[in-house]
Amino acid sequence: MIQRREEAALLLGPNAEVSALRSGMNLVLLGAPGAGKGTQAKRLADRLGLLHLSTGDLFRAHLSQGTELGKTARRYMEAGELVPDDVTLAMVFDRLSAPEAAQGFVLDGFPRNLAQAEAFEREMAARGQRLDLAVLLAVADSVLVERLTGRRTCPQCQATYHLVFSPPAHDELCDRCGVPLVQRPDDRPETVMRRLEVYHAETAPLIAYYRRRGILREVNGEASPEAVTEALLGLVEGVAGD
Ligand code: ADP
Ligand code: ADP
Ligand code: ZN
Repeated sequence: MIQRREEAALLLGPNAEVSALRSGMNLVLLGAPGAGKGTQAKRLADRLGLLHLSTGDLFRAHLSQGTELGKTARRYMEAGELVPDDVTLAMVFDRLSAPEAAQGFVLDGFPRNLAQAEAFEREMAARGQRLDLAVLLAVADSVLVERLTGRRTCPQCQATYHLVFSPPAHDELCDRCGVPLVQRPDDRPETVMRRLEVYHAETAPLIAYYRRRGILREVNGEASPEAVTEALLGLVEGVAGD
């Protein structure tokens, strides 16, 4: 396996290491708000040449562009509630029709309830595709609160920082863009508690859902970001080698 991986990397460059072994790897990162889904999905997408599809990022892009979809999503997001399924599903399926999705994708923040998971499964089957892996990033609630309230993002490049765990080099400025970092309105303590409740009630049942399908794996999301990435790459390689 290692040798095949090295050969693949030589042929295709470092960004294609595992995807070369099995094109079209499709995965879901499951986990509570703050579990590290965005951080890890970006890294996996980079390392494996996959499309990173974050429903939260897509909604925020609509918000900042002032689209109708953005206007609908805003009040749900600000309250820490889920955006209605019909809106969410249409947006996701549209994105998955993009040519980049054919290389495989990593879903971050979707599906978020059973109805979304079932609709997604039907849609994938209709497209002759399937999900290969669902990985739970396991993190205790007490840690999540600390992560969410300290999270800052770059309004320009969407890079994610943490004031304590991964601070920018200078003040509260993006390392890449130099612009001041911002706090997401829904990362304030009031909304964080509601989001965690919604996670436990609506999203956590997906753990059992994917376990029943035999594609659930779990990673300790409290390890360092680097260790979590390594664990994820190990799981992907395991599936790719099947
Ligand atoms: P999610 O997308 O699941 O909500 P993020 O990837 O945005 O989570 O991470 C939430 C916050 O926690 C961010 O501020 C991020 O920098 C920080 N973070 C992510 N992974 C870790 C980790 N393994 N250890 C410590 N902090 C982390
Ligand atoms: P986090 O990474 O902290 O979990 P996200 O960026 O994934 O947060 O989501 C932010 C908000 O966007 C959610 O609280 C919810 O209002 C909305 N949202 C994101 N994904 C979905 C989804 N799949 N279904 C419904 N609402 C969603
Ligand atoms: Zn930036």
